[in-house]
Amino acid sequence: MESCKLLLCGQLYDGIHDELFSDQQILVEGSIISAVGKNLSRPKECQVIDLSHLTVTPGMIDAHIHSDLFDWRDYSAILLKSETWNNLGHLHTAQRTLERGFTTIRAHALAQGQGYGLADVKRAIAAGYFPGSRMVITFHMLGTAGGHADASQALMLNPRLAEAATQPFIGAGADFFRQVVQKDIKYGADFIKLFISGGFSTPGDTPDNTYLSDEELQAILSTAQGMGRPTTAHVYTPEHMQKLIRFGITGMEHGSLMDEETAALFEQTNTYLVPTFCPYDEIIHLDEAAMAQKEPHFQAKLRKYAQQLRQGREIIANSKIRLGYGTDFVAVHQCYESWYEYRSWMRSGIDPFRILRAATSSNAEILGLQDKLGTIQPGKLADLAGWQRDLLQDEEALSECSFVMKEGTIYPSLMEQAR
Ligand SMILES: [Zn+2]
Repeated sequence: MESCKLLLCGQLYDGIHDELFSDQQILVEGSIISAVGKNLSRPKECQVIDLSHLTVTPGMIDAHIHSDLFDWRDYSAILLKSETWNNLGHLHTAQRTLERGFTTIRAHALAQGQGYGLADVKRAIAAGYFPGSRMVITFHMLGTAGGHADASQALMLNPRLAEAATQPFIGAGADFFRQVVQKDIKYGADFIKLFISGGFSTPGDTPDNTYLSDEELQAILSTAQGMGRPTTAHVYTPEHMQKLIRFGITGMEHGSLMDEETAALFEQTNTYLVPTFCPYDEIIHLDEAAMAQKEPHFQAKLRKYAQQLRQGREIIANSKIRLGYGTDFVAVHQCYESWYEYRSWMRSGIDPFRILRAATSSNAEILGLQDKLGTIQPGKLADLAGWQRDLLQDEEALSECSFVMKEGTIYPSLMEQAR
């Protein structure tokens, strides 16, 4: 007989309703949720797990993690590390996020180089050789020389060294990018990520610079679409976002300089946005101590765009855009501390149920896993998390995960390990 577990929940958020339900039980058989409700009949030899002190939610999903970082302070030196080291970083992150109740992560590699080792990390976890969050992966940051995707910018004072460190997915021309997309998908990419513009954390570009041409953008989008993979984009300005929507992209990351017109376009087309709020909090609610931890060029850009970032945050918060939950930490916080984003959304005045939906059912949809994950319903995989703090009032509630189940198996949570 398959293993059977009956979970007694204090409260339950199901990923669907804006409501916490009391006295609910979840019956898990093997890796699957087989029933949810009050007073379920318990099959013989079914293990009872008392979570009556916790709020149980679907396993959380972080849709934007740079999982190759062991420690955010290593960010500027990432090109100096071997690919093996960076791949071990992915594994380390997936272990830490699982303990924290995030049973699935969308991993955006920062420095994958020539190789495709991230796919092996994903496979090794899926095969059960290591505990870790389920991974949905992209290998490469598709962009041009000098753009945000080009990490060798960090070495730009020594062009010879920078050229040697330039990664093979940095290039130009529609054909070049078509081939990168084809190979990435061949070796296991679940989605493709393009970098249309500059960014905040790189030294030599700005969020409103344009790096990929229309021809290159269309080559990336149509090649990925033809091979059945979604594309997401690193993007900030209304002009860039509107162009990508016109070109048929299904979703984007950041969008931090949002305006009303573009927000309306997102709503009309049901395009998703993973707004990655937290990395901009230090400037939005000015925190000089946290700002001081970022590199000088990073700080200067945040200060320059401060007003637009504040406006964009407000427009996104007040919109009806389909939002996904993602953290994008490469500075100040460790990449696996996904709970900070919850606090950031709460401080931006967003309803906690909208945040919970973003981190569960909306993210499952964004990742194309809505048939298996994101809600607590019969037939779904038993990915669950339990929280002792008040999810509706306490902005740090997700910092203390007390129960983790992935595909019916219970893993030690952060709080259990701390005991
Ligand atoms: Zn990112």
